[in-house]
Amino acid sequence: MLSDFLEGPLQAEIGISTLNLPDKTNAVAIPNTSNVGNGSELLLFNTRIEINPLLCGGSIDKDPLEIAGMLLHELIHARIYESLYNRGHFAQIVSGPPALNNIWDNFVQSNFPDIIPVGKDQHKLMAQVYVNDLAQALHDLNGGVGDPSDYLIFAWQGILGAYPEETRHKYDFLPKNMDDLLSNFNNNVKGKGDLQFNGCN
Ligand SMILES: [Zn+2]
Repeated sequence: MLSDFLEGPLQAEIGISTLNLPDKTNAVAIPNTSNVGNGSELLLFNTRIEINPLLCGGSIDKDPLEIAGMLLHELIHARIYESLYNRGHFAQIVSGPPALNNIWDNFVQSNFPDIIPVGKDQHKLMAQVYVNDLAQALHDLNGGVGDPSDYLIFAWQGILGAYPEETRHKYDFLPKNMDDLLSNFNNNVKGKGDLQFNGCN
């Protein structure tokens, strides 16, 4: 999934560690930057993925497919940062992530000219461009159990929140009912497939 989007093969360099995060946050992707003064940051190549240690066996124990979806989600952020970095020809002053100046605007406009404007929000880009790929990837990783759409509940995690609830009806591409998505997963996938092992082994 990640190898054939944006430009060419996946090159994002990532570091993975754990960090205490708010209970509802599974993980975050943090681009590496270096402060060059004047409130400006230089975007560097590598991205850090910080994972909430409570995901495994802790107080917010998750379905393994949710964890897999979280990793894919953070890898998309890393891949986006890698593309932005490459557009900056290895060194680009930014005004601090995630507002990556006009580099971001150029990136969105040239790669996705037909989408509804996303502002500076990577999640709004994912909502229009990557959600179905994410669901497909989870379906494939889980051995093809059910239909790719059965995995949308986890493909939307961390993304839907980019749209305040009262505005969601304006966008056809957003899911109408998350309860339905959860039912699809529970009825057709839960407990079945390659990733449905117990715990975090
Ligand atoms: Zn995210």
